[in-house]
Amino acid sequence: MANMNAAAASVSWSAESTGFWVGQVAGAQIWFTGRQGGVSPPPFDTLNVSRAVKDLPAAVAENRRRAAMRGAPTAGAVWGRLIHGTNVVWLGPEAAVGPGPVADGLLTARPGLTVAMTFADCVPIWLGAAEPRVAGLLHAGWRGTVHNIAREGVAALAGGGVRPESLWAVIGPSIGPCCYEVGPAVAAEVEALELGPGLVDGRRHLDLWQTNRRLLERAGVPEGHIVATELCTACHAQWFFSHRRDGGRTGRNGGFIRLEAPA
Ligand SMILES: [Zn+2]
Repeated sequence: MANMNAAAASVSWSAESTGFWVGQVAGAQIWFTGRQGGVSPPPFDTLNVSRAVKDLPAAVAENRRRAAMRGAPTAGAVWGRLIHGTNVVWLGPEAAVGPGPVADGLLTARPGLTVAMTFADCVPIWLGAAEPRVAGLLHAGWRGTVHNIAREGVAALAGGGVRPESLWAVIGPSIGPCCYEVGPAVAAEVEALELGPGLVDGRRHLDLWQTNRRLLERAGVPEGHIVATELCTACHAQWFFSHRRDGGRTGRNGGFIRLEAPA
């Protein structure tokens, strides 16, 4: 896939190979690993990068090594411990690689430090700015979306001196409106956000991509600074793990962002 937003020099997204994706958000590099090229047995076949599912630890270690061989910086990463909340945390100079804080949003201004999270339908939202140079990653399922982790992420960045207008964002592979039917309570929570029509259709299919885009825009991120990959994890069984499609027994895709040193 070509650069999806050639007009914007500061955000890009492309397929490096099938099921392995790379991009750039302002001064940060981003990666997304799918399910191809690993060693895990079913139902984690094959490139599961999560230690929090019941996969073999040795298989996960080998998968992370293989992902690193293809460029995704799995080794030097701080891994967010996800709870479907809206807690967004700045990683300070003391942040150590390995399991990170309990948070669904991690931010850093430290070049070379990688933020990592695991996904299997929830929405990865990568954020970056050039001045000051920062990078962040949010994990937004329906709970994180309706509780507005997008706003929390932008607010936490603003607290670090990053103007919302200077932010760039990529909304990554996750379950699409084609496959994500929700109950009436969730649909009502989305409608209560008052983001306009078209987010939930008549059969209660929720569009998490468009909902998070509008939440980012409401928080001040310019419309032209947001790229949505519009890749559905449930539709593409050959590329991605999907919690909904696989009935909860599945592996995890990996989302990564690393702030590069200034040129
Ligand atoms: Zn789909």
